[in-house]
Amino acid sequence: GKGRAWDIGKVRTTCPYCGTGCNFDLEIARRSDSKGQTREEVIGVASSIDAPVNGRALCVKGRFGTDFIHHRDRLTTPLIKKDGQFVEASWEEAIAFAASRLGDIHAEYGGDAFGVLASAKATNEENYLLNRFARTILGTNNIDHCARLCHSSTVAGLAASFGSGAMTNPIEDIAKTDFMLVIGSNTTESHPVLALSMLRAIRQGTPCVVIDPRKTELAALAHKHLPLKPGSDLALLNAMAHVIITEGLYKEDFIKTYTEGFETLCEAVTETTPEWAESICGIDADLIRDTARRYARAQRGSIYYTMGVTQKHTGTHNVMAIANLALLTGHIGREGTGVNPLRGQNNVQGACDMGALPNVLPGYQPVTDAGVREKFARTWDVKIDSLSERPGLTVGEMLQGAHEGRLKSMLIMGENPVVSDPDSQHVIEALERLDFLVVMDLFLTDTARHADVIFPACSFAEKEGTFTNTERRVQRVRQGIQPVGDSRPDWQIIGDLAAAMGSPFPYRDPASIMDEIAETTPSYGGISHHRLDKEGPLCWPCPAKDHPGTPRLHMNGFVRGKGKFHAVPYLPPAEQPDDEYPLILSTGRRLFHYHTGTMSRRSGLEEVYPEEHLEIHPDDADDLGLKDHDWVRLSTRRGAIEIAVWMTDRIVAGMVFTSFHFVEAMVNKLTNAATDPIAKIPELKVCACKIEKIDCP
Ligand code: SF4
Repeated sequence: GKGRAWDIGKVRTTCPYCGTGCNFDLEIARRSDSKGQTREEVIGVASSIDAPVNGRALCVKGRFGTDFIHHRDRLTTPLIKKDGQFVEASWEEAIAFAASRLGDIHAEYGGDAFGVLASAKATNEENYLLNRFARTILGTNNIDHCARLCHSSTVAGLAASFGSGAMTNPIEDIAKTDFMLVIGSNTTESHPVLALSMLRAIRQGTPCVVIDPRKTELAALAHKHLPLKPGSDLALLNAMAHVIITEGLYKEDFIKTYTEGFETLCEAVTETTPEWAESICGIDADLIRDTARRYARAQRGSIYYTMGVTQKHTGTHNVMAIANLALLTGHIGREGTGVNPLRGQNNVQGACDMGALPNVLPGYQPVTDAGVREKFARTWDVKIDSLSERPGLTVGEMLQGAHEGRLKSMLIMGENPVVSDPDSQHVIEALERLDFLVVMDLFLTDTARHADVIFPACSFAEKEGTFTNTERRVQRVRQGIQPVGDSRPDWQIIGDLAAAMGSPFPYRDPASIMDEIAETTPSYGGISHHRLDKEGPLCWPCPAKDHPGTPRLHMNGFVRGKGKFHAVPYLPPAEQPDDEYPLILSTGRRLFHYHTGTMSRRSGLEEVYPEEHLEIHPDDADDLGLKDHDWVRLSTRRGAIEIAVWMTDRIVAGMVFTSFHFVEAMVNKLTNAATDPIAKIPELKVCACKIEKIDCP
């Protein structure tokens, strides 16, 4: 019908894609029709000079990637699977059905028959609530999320070295450093706006060395690029420690005052000479020496890294080797220095902070600590004995448990393990063997297809809450429009399930959940929605209402007391190329898409980047008789996919690379599920593969 003109409004919120944490204004068009019905639509995104992290800058995903909010594929009503088909259901019916099945399974098998996947895409408040649901209502510590696949080795490695597993310095310190070492990070594609600070620093003369098997855009612009063989990071890092120690470039006073274990490291790297490392990683020994010297001699040296370091079966040791370098040189606890893991998803830092991990409760408080369990039992109004002291299962262990019939049911909030986790076939079989699978999502993902009940969830534009970005900055997410269709925010779905299972939660809204987070989680002690709205974002630790937040960690000594050196011997990748599988396959991200593509591929970005390809070095292509755009079958010991090749010398010979965004070329059918024994992170960055030319399908 005829209605009034559209009103255009703006709502400041936080980008739902990467961990850089850009803020922008959602532009909302609203109109009431003659019947008094209001229509609302997100029509665009505008940046603003006063956004704390990004100012006016946004990357293509933030600027053009939000069409998924109103995409026709949005799930708008709950679905229950009946005779193998999804059938629409009312909320009452779907919640009652899920609650009753979960209750039955609990009664028959107990809490540890459940596995729960929280989400680095959901808000802090939702992750906290799902945690409470898992620990108190399902009665299990089996809760984890996709941080297991990206920075679980950082959380473990930096916690052991420094006492806190997070980025030590803020993004603004990139402008203050005088030497940048970037390892295993394709920053311009994975953290584009953060990378702008790096590019600006390089332009202004800050030396930058990039260590990466691929000549990424940043590597091409850096002062030096060290294209090491995939999986040889630890050899190179130990050789750098060797140079710094044998040439006396370490900071003796700093080591004496603030660290322990120096002798252990000295002994461990006696033999790890640059020449030894050259034979493993293929980088000239003099280049390794030069990089070590420049980092050690810098006034404010800084290290940035991502999944090239962490997604290895030696991921935790790789992280510790990086921490060793910072401890040797004292490049930590000061402006412009630090060990800076760039967190991937918009709220992966927050999901970890909120205890979406099997061994800790919110704020990294161990489940094994009786005092911690007592505190949470009091807050959550349950008996202390009902909170298990036994650490739960990781994602990989849950899926293995489902495979073996030990795990009977899973609840998955906004994750898509069929596409994101290694060895997809194994994941599908695991989900199919469950008695009962509940999924909460915006779309019918490849994971949701295996569910018994799907709850339609709201996007970031339809709810209130907070995300915590890579630099520990807690930022507001604000509701711009009413929920699309009959969808509900995850926090409400969890609350509805809790109530149906006989234990209603006491929260009015996300702000009241944050008030409880502040009570139970010391590093968030001074944070509230009210304060964030009034004062702007705050970096944790922010222990009290009058505390200004902590952009830099370890300024007055380490969180764990003394920084600890670790002896971390080099180990080759779990799977080596051989006669049958002669090449190395590595996976990563592209600028135009995000993770399993459920959001970015339902936006205008899909027009720009609609299909995936396999990067291959021209020498390898020649050997295989391949030309650009030829199609190949790419296989590993776990499966095969078909994909077109892209010949490029930005990759080292002997290695091929593609992203995991495209379900049509589902590379995680091929990747290796071998894990780091400490963090249980899979070795997604290296596995052996072969290529055969095929006709264009
Ligand atoms: Fe969003 Fe990351 Fe791009 Fe910023 S850099 S707009 S947070 S995807």
